[in-house]
Amino acid sequence: MNCSRLLARAATVACTAFVAAPVAAQKPSASALPSFEQMYGYKPGTDRKLVSWKEVTGFLTALDKASPRVSVRTLGKTVLGRPFLVSFIADSGTLANLERYRTIQRKLMDPRLRTASDSKAKLIADGKNVILVTCSIHSTEVGGWHTCLNLADSLARSESDEAKLIRANTIIMLVASQNPDGVDIVGDWYRSTLNTPAEGTSPPELYHHYTGHDNNRDWYAFTQPETRYVVDSLYTPWDPQIVNDIHQQGANAGRIFVPPYMDPVEPNIDPILTSSTNAMGLQMTWTMISEGYTGIANNASYDQWSPARQYSLVHRGARLLTETASARLATPMDMPFDRLGTGRGYDAREVTWNYPVLWPGGKWGLEEIVKYQTAASWALFTHAARDKRAWLEAYAAMGDRAMGTMPPWGKEPWPSAFIIPKAQASASSLQRMLWTLQHGQVEIRETTAPVTTEGKTYPAGSYAVLVKQPFGGYGKSLLERQKYPNLFEYPGGPPKRPYDVTAHTLPLLFGVEVATVMGAEPATGRPIAEVKEATFSAPMLSGTSTKRIGIYKSYAESMDEGWTRWVFDTYRIPFTSLHDKDVKAGNLIAKYDAIIIPDQQANSIIRGVGNAYPDSLKGGLGDAGGAALTAFVEAGGTLLAFNDASEYAIEAMKLPVKNALAGVRNTEFYAPGSIFAVEVDKSNPVARTFNAPTPGVWFENGPAFDITDPSQAVAVAKYPATGNSLLSGWLLGPQKLNGKAALVDVSKGKGHVVLFGFRPQYRGQTESTLPLIWGAILRGDGVRP
Ligand SMILES: [Zn+2]
Repeated sequence: MNCSRLLARAATVACTAFVAAPVAAQKPSASALPSFEQMYGYKPGTDRKLVSWKEVTGFLTALDKASPRVSVRTLGKTVLGRPFLVSFIADSGTLANLERYRTIQRKLMDPRLRTASDSKAKLIADGKNVILVTCSIHSTEVGGWHTCLNLADSLARSESDEAKLIRANTIIMLVASQNPDGVDIVGDWYRSTLNTPAEGTSPPELYHHYTGHDNNRDWYAFTQPETRYVVDSLYTPWDPQIVNDIHQQGANAGRIFVPPYMDPVEPNIDPILTSSTNAMGLQMTWTMISEGYTGIANNASYDQWSPARQYSLVHRGARLLTETASARLATPMDMPFDRLGTGRGYDAREVTWNYPVLWPGGKWGLEEIVKYQTAASWALFTHAARDKRAWLEAYAAMGDRAMGTMPPWGKEPWPSAFIIPKAQASASSLQRMLWTLQHGQVEIRETTAPVTTEGKTYPAGSYAVLVKQPFGGYGKSLLERQKYPNLFEYPGGPPKRPYDVTAHTLPLLFGVEVATVMGAEPATGRPIAEVKEATFSAPMLSGTSTKRIGIYKSYAESMDEGWTRWVFDTYRIPFTSLHDKDVKAGNLIAKYDAIIIPDQQANSIIRGVGNAYPDSLKGGLGDAGGAALTAFVEAGGTLLAFNDASEYAIEAMKLPVKNALAGVRNTEFYAPGSIFAVEVDKSNPVARTFNAPTPGVWFENGPAFDITDPSQAVAVAKYPATGNSLLSGWLLGPQKLNGKAALVDVSKGKGHVVLFGFRPQYRGQTESTLPLIWGAILRGDGVRP
């Protein structure tokens, strides 16, 4: 959407694509508003009832029609074709002048845009506290979209003093679900299994077509349309001060988590956001406890590290993640006090500063979930409205700091710029990186004189990302290598598990060379125009492939399987999804040249879904599947096994390879999502088009291989024999990897098994290792390694 990109740069350009039109004066009064119950016969948040996406859009559209305080916009279509909606909610006068308020946001965000008539003081006095509410990106966390319907209703209808203050001082952008497809994937499954043993189970497929639960790990890569709608139409034009991100957690600890988060903090997040998130979280907790809510945990479970999960914290917005306890989808459960356990950072049976009131146990269902989420959201709105001035002052201060009028924070000195040479091993990877940075509002310039840094001279006209720019900290976090802190549960104890992965270095993920400039900022011109999105192709595979490719798809859904399909669809490489029965039917060589088993644990591949599921879905690959895959390879097929699936292939096909990390304790070796250096044998056909300038692989609790019979297997990629292979992220016990194989090509009969001890297509981001997948598929029938 070019319009929003324009707006990111120039606050004065008129654009209507996402701005609510002035509201018709003849809309009826609040008393005439429709209610969801009148329209559909039940209340959102009723146990054992899930609202469908049609009902969500039906109600919000009716509210828009009836209320001058609500304006609903459709931002586009989801992957599976459903409308993706946002509801703007505020006083009718505010909604009629949204463009003026958006301009105020831009000028508060970027001091370069302020003028004498729009001074900082005037902008703060005139502006609104802009709040983005994002519900149910995770579709089995079913409370969210019901809570959003209730919030929209109360915000439009209520005449309480609080509601009036909220509407006067804030602009609320309510996204009832960030994954509308999942509302129906989960809802349809739930309704079809009511009163059966499967009632309350997760659906036997990903609830987002490509990403499943990883749909909220896409916040700097922007691979999915749903991510782009929120970024292009809400984050980029508005950069909201506060994001209320509504999630659910497990069933057996606290009833709700509210920030502060746990350590570590990503070092580029402005400390104003860390402290304002902490302050708002504790205000919400304070209000909820005053209202009689119990079981509220702070400073627990969730950390503040990966920008893949927390876009707002690197874009000027406090992120108020709430995680309410789950039930069995909409089916209530009984949770007695003595079955409650420990969350990370607290014990749900003990009073501590960060868990001040015990929840006594009892019934827990959709009704309770929605009640908690609604109370937390309303507390957030109320405090945001009351403290509008403080929020806007802090927001403007962050703009000033980003432009260098205040020093950076932390121990490490900051570079002044990153240089990106125009000559790269892969032009499309360079293009993808530039596009990705710009899409997150990072300005890219060209140098106007040669720059010498890190022992090399880069000519004038090289790309440069200056750190001193509105989102320079965000650009820095994506361009530098992460140094995740060594955190342990207690001195001498096991490592403290990060909430997500520990690395997000785009140059290593995409395979692009980048240099860092310390000291004086290099001379540059103005920001360059928007770079077009790259189109990708794999030679001999994209578009016209004659290779017949199967991708295994378990009913015990694997997100890696979804990402694999996304990569193949994006590269326009045809494939067929293979379910258990398709593999077990055998004679695979008649239909396929290559079969991929995406990352999934061996047990899960063999056994599939649990006992509660219908018989037609149960069973996994079992012995018959293993025999069929072995016969396929022996007859000349190529099997690719990603990450944990390698261990399945080694066992099921009796391969002469061992996982050297099997049984190694996490006190000796730990790497929960990092980028490691490898040495690649480019003479092997699997690696023939691999060309990353810094060869690295995405390692995430995966295997590392010893070859037990070198006459049958060779290492295509290896970890260095000495030293530490860590390039970005966290690694404990680097010596455990020394000399181990990361990628192995095994000959078996007439065919091959290629074992990946890493995730070669990690979340659609590891552009640099995709050629190893293409190489494995094309490795050549009958060619012995
Ligand atoms: Zn969630």
